[in-house]
Amino acid sequence: MGFSIDLLPAFADNYIYLVSDVALGLAMVVDPGDPEVVRRALQKKDLHLALILNTHHHSDHIGGNAKLQREYGAPIIGPTLEQHRIEGMARAVENGDLVTFSDLRGQVIGTPGHTSGHISFYFPGLKALFCGDTLFSLGCGRLFEGSASQMWQSLTTLRGLPDDTLVYAGHEYTEENGHFAQVVDKDNLDLKQRLADVATLRRKGKPTLPVTLGDEKKTNPFLRVDCPDFQKSLAKNGFPVDGTDPAAIFGALRAGKDRFDSGTKTL
Ligand code: ZN
Ligand code: FE
Repeated sequence: MGFSIDLLPAFADNYIYLVSDVALGLAMVVDPGDPEVVRRALQKKDLHLALILNTHHHSDHIGGNAKLQREYGAPIIGPTLEQHRIEGMARAVENGDLVTFSDLRGQVIGTPGHTSGHISFYFPGLKALFCGDTLFSLGCGRLFEGSASQMWQSLTTLRGLPDDTLVYAGHEYTEENGHFAQVVDKDNLDLKQRLADVATLRRKGKPTLPVTLGDEKKTNPFLRVDCPDFQKSLAKNGFPVDGTDPAAIFGALRAGKDRFDSGTKTL
């Protein structure tokens, strides 16, 4: 059971995840946006690439597919609903399907919202969740193709996984997300602690991922919209919410974060 998971930074803030079976000298890669980054890691560790997994069709997640497939013959597995937007897929999968790498089994979880066919991969044997651009630490993906209620449904599904699940998200957005989280959830002591830890990690140039799902449940505002304490905090911190429908609050919060990101830094 000698598996290791490497975080390969790519572009400005992407992470490509390389899972290797050290004994067999085989690897699988999740969302290889940049083929050179993956090739270098494989060479350095003397690994052969056996499998490519894609969470969604955006180019920063699939840009290395073709080159790596050509060089290593590794099959590409991606979402059925985005099959027409990802070239060269060997197998299309959807919610409930299983993927295998070495003696590991990964469950495919449908997580639409960021894109219409977005999927995540959960490997119980690694306690690892590869969730692409659905769940980020202290945030979540933008709603490019899905509705707020779809994304909320996707996040609640992921939230149902065990607390000790390690969240491997597609981007290093944690510190940036923290600025918004801090404003809407001022009195959350767990969040304060996480922000302090994140600041320290970033100062040392280290990744803030993976993070446990248990920690995210306590600190990520987008996973807390159905929590009465958080709803009170929203009202108190200048974010009036109408009613208590979690999907509606989620939608308002996501829209608030979009405005916040575009430079106002106010609610
Ligand atoms: Zn994306
Ligand atoms: Fe992305």
